Amino acid sequence: MTTTTRFAPSPTGALHLGHAYAALFARARGTRFLVRIEDIDRARCKAVYEAAILNDLAWLGLSWEEPVLRQSTRMAAYGAALAKLKAMGLVYPCFCTRTEIAEEIARAESAPQGPDGPLYPGTCRPLSETARNRRLSEGQPYALRLDSAKAAAGAGPLSFQEQGEGQTGCISVDPLCFGDIVLARKDTPSAYHLAVVMDDAFQGVTLVTRGQDLFAATHIQRLLQTLLGLPEPAYAHHKLILDETGKKFSKRDRAVTLQALREQGATPRDIAACLQDSDRAMISRK
Ligand code: GLU
Repeated sequence: MTTTTRFAPSPTGALHLGHAYAALFARARGTRFLVRIEDIDRARCKAVYEAAILNDLAWLGLSWEEPVLRQSTRMAAYGAALAKLKAMGLVYPCFCTRTEIAEEIARAESAPQGPDGPLYPGTCRPLSETARNRRLSEGQPYALRLDSAKAAAGAGPLSFQEQGEGQTGCISVDPLCFGDIVLARKDTPSAYHLAVVMDDAFQGVTLVTRGQDLFAATHIQRLLQTLLGLPEPAYAHHKLILDETGKKFSKRDRAVTLQALREQGATPRDIAACLQDSDRAMISRK
């Protein structure tokens, strides 16, 4: 049976040891291996990083099916998915600024927490049609959010199959764990979750591999897949490669970029060996 996996970096910096682990993990788990460039954020993504990423992957000894998919070419598909969710009555415009959201959370007696911090308090969800239209016609900036409670009620109970390096088996989905996520911004028809589910389906990915830091994202992605009638992939979340202080390597951490290691004389075999006995790996919460 074919297992299709993908490595999906954002070209916002150089690849480091953590990415090498992710790419090799995806390759090892798949019979078909794809690369996807997640370049929705045009301000942060750079062609030079993209070229360097593909160069690093080839140096590691990886090959992938061409063409490489770039999310920046997929805006029409994301727009169509968004329109579908809108037609289902599951999307509302949110006019809150980051500061307003933070202030509202600070005022609340208890703010529900999500995997990435306090959840959006839902300020714009109950706005009347008239109030929405007035603010839209005034040209106020907005994001489009998913009414997650309504969406979850329509989708019914969900689960996913986890085959990674932490908890495995059938995991029950908590579709509300991220609250009313941003699906798109005013000028960009997609944000991370919507783009990922659309592309995993489009590319025929059957096993989504990625780090434990994105484990919780699977809950909301299963909900979106169900709402959009997309096939359900299996998941394998891998351990994270951490630095000596227990933090994830950051793209700013020059010392462990594959390019720097290569310039210091490391071979792809050294990289694989170092990742294999990495005692700095950690399985994250949830
Ligand atoms: N582009 C994401 C990242 O660089 C990975 C997305 C995913 O695997 O779902 O962390």
